[in-house]
Amino acid sequence: MSLAGGGSRSAADAAWRTRVTEALSSISDAVYFLDADDRFTWVNTATERLLARPAVDLVGRTVWEIFPDLVGSDLETAYRRARDTREVQEAEIFSRPLDRWFEGRIHPDRDDELVVFFRDVHERRTLDEERTAESSLIRAVLNALPSRTAILDADGTILTTNAAWNAGAAPEGQQFVARPGANYLEVCRAAAVAGNPDAPVMADGLEAVLQGRAPFFSRDYAVTWPGGRATDDTWWHLQVFPVDELHRVVVSHTDITDRVAAEQRAAWQARHDHLTALPNRVALHEVIAKALAEDDGGGRVTVLYMDVDGFKQVNDSLGHSAGDLLLRELASRLAHRTRPTDVVGRLGGDEFVVVAHDCDAEGADALARRFRSVFDEPFELAGSRLPITVSIGIAASDQDHTRPEDLLRDADVAMYAAKSSGPNQHLLFTPALRAAVEDRWQISSRLRDAASLGEFELHWQPVVHLASGEVTGCEALLRWNHPQRGLVPPAEFIPVAEDEGLIVPITRWLLQVTLAQGAAWARQGRHLTIAVNVSAAHLASGTLVDDVLGALADSGLEPGLLVLELTETSLARNPEKAAEQFATLRRHGIRMAIDDFGTGYSSLSAVASLPADVLKVDRALVAGLPQAGAAVPEAVLRSVAALGAALDMQVIAEGIETPEQLALVRRVGCAYGQGYRLCPPLPASQLSALLDEGRRRTGGQRLPPPSASA
Ligand code: C2E
Ligand code: MG
Ligand code: MG
Repeated sequence: MSLAGGGSRSAADAAWRTRVTEALSSISDAVYFLDADDRFTWVNTATERLLARPAVDLVGRTVWEIFPDLVGSDLETAYRRARDTREVQEAEIFSRPLDRWFEGRIHPDRDDELVVFFRDVHERRTLDEERTAESSLIRAVLNALPSRTAILDADGTILTTNAAWNAGAAPEGQQFVARPGANYLEVCRAAAVAGNPDAPVMADGLEAVLQGRAPFFSRDYAVTWPGGRATDDTWWHLQVFPVDELHRVVVSHTDITDRVAAEQRAAWQARHDHLTALPNRVALHEVIAKALAEDDGGGRVTVLYMDVDGFKQVNDSLGHSAGDLLLRELASRLAHRTRPTDVVGRLGGDEFVVVAHDCDAEGADALARRFRSVFDEPFELAGSRLPITVSIGIAASDQDHTRPEDLLRDADVAMYAAKSSGPNQHLLFTPALRAAVEDRWQISSRLRDAASLGEFELHWQPVVHLASGEVTGCEALLRWNHPQRGLVPPAEFIPVAEDEGLIVPITRWLLQVTLAQGAAWARQGRHLTIAVNVSAAHLASGTLVDDVLGALADSGLEPGLLVLELTETSLARNPEKAAEQFATLRRHGIRMAIDDFGTGYSSLSAVASLPADVLKVDRALVAGLPQAGAAVPEAVLRSVAALGAALDMQVIAEGIETPEQLALVRRVGCAYGQGYRLCPPLPASQLSALLDEGRRRTGGQRLPPPSASA
């Protein structure tokens, strides 16, 4: 069919053309006809309106005359194409004068004539442009998101994914299932069928958002790859949010593997010891609780509580890193020696615990021996081989042990008792041990206030020059007048005071009282040396020198009248520290005594290298060793007295109880003596009275003759 006018048109053609142009005149699209030279041959009313010119101004003139700016435009190309190809052409053109977009359809007609339809598409066109801009913005935002993000259709089909999603790599040999076009919901359902525990929850949550039943959905989940390694496992945080009223949703996946790994690490650390990686106190409690719960009454749960002997010395002398090294090595040895069913852990410090199942008392004994043998081989530390031992307390579960803390407490009690009896021991818990501990606990809690409550009492025992019978000094001996227990001897409370850190304050108090007494006696013309016992803990505390000098200054006692007694054993523990303080105190004129000499194991050279003024021979040597022959103790005593004399020390024999012992110590050359035979320890007033009596009867600073004082 041809519309444009041609050279040989029939009348029917003309009539047809008239009818068509009439029909076209009234339509809203602009329509015009062009001849082969692009001259308007006919325009409809809409064209007149569109081009803002009447038909008479247009018909007979070319498009390019009227619209010169369209030369070379897409429209010109479309005209030419329509003529060349004889096919309908379309073009969108922006009309600058009208400032609008139009869509043109160019129909080729006969003899290179064209029929052109024009429609104003400005509204649609700008909307499209806005949409394009918006979607590229959305794409840019999506791609900027670090989380793997996808937009799903209302049925769960993945419409688009972002750069992070596309860059996500699966471990070698694995593949992501969820690609654009796949249905996310179906992927979740398939994973659920395959047994993934998170997948059904995720599918339900996603579906709820897709169907508009939930405002959003989120969940943390793990991804493990079939046959993959544990290090390939990852953790993700899924979030689903609705996008629009079409029920499309945005799904994002944030990698939280690092966070979860940190949480898992923290959970592991909460139950393990950082130094040795063994189960810690918390974990051990759980292990014991579980074992107790599983115990049907027959198979017992046994706890071995181990404490390294002298660990503090290792730390103090070799440093903490050597101490740590020892603990690690120890942990590894213990772990190797533990049965697979048993558990070894570290409570803290140098305390280790083994939890053993199905183990009776006999078995526990064997077990303790086995663990002690772990220490047969010395430890290589700081370049030297160090022999190490442990003390072990054992507690086995019975009806009294329903909680882990019961077992641990009793094993600890047994360990404590084992350690008190010397290093490298093990002991099975008995209720008697607990009573002893409770007793000790009572002592320690009351002891704290004993001085302020005025419960301490001092007794004084004279030191006698054996040849002349003159009393040259006296030793202050502490007693505790306990309201319920009566007079408690120092052997029962001094060790507790030492352990509880009370010995230094007690000794400070003691120095004040004794030195004041000494000064009072001196003012009365009674020049007695005042001997005060000092504990090794005080020596170790480092305050001894200051405490003594302070008390001396307060009392006004002449330093030469003060004797400080330290036991041979306590000096042996730290000879260097002792020597230093001995020297300082001696420079101040104070006299130093080695107490209980002959009971410890300090070598002769240790004593010789620690200059002291007084050697107090222990009463065990005076009384004689029970298993030895009579001649041997005399020889020993004689050589000790000779040693003291050779070192220019005042030798005092302690514990002289009988006339025979008195004769013995005189015979072997001990110049001074102390003991019940000479005088028992007495309160100061009694001793003063006795000395007054002695002076009255003998004229010197002497005790009254035994017959008179009896
Ligand atoms: P020590 O310093 O060797 O004191 C001598 C101990 O022997 C005293 O026991 C004394 O009462 C006792 N004794 C004296 N003569 C005889 C005797 O003929 N036969 C027997 N069997 N014993 C005799 P005490 O007072 O029970 O003191 C025991 C230990 O307690 C003292 O031994 C001393 O190491 C310590 N001690 C006493 N008072 C204090 C103190 O104020 N501070 C410190 N740190 N320790 C003290
Ligand atoms: Mg003493
Ligand atoms: Mg003594």
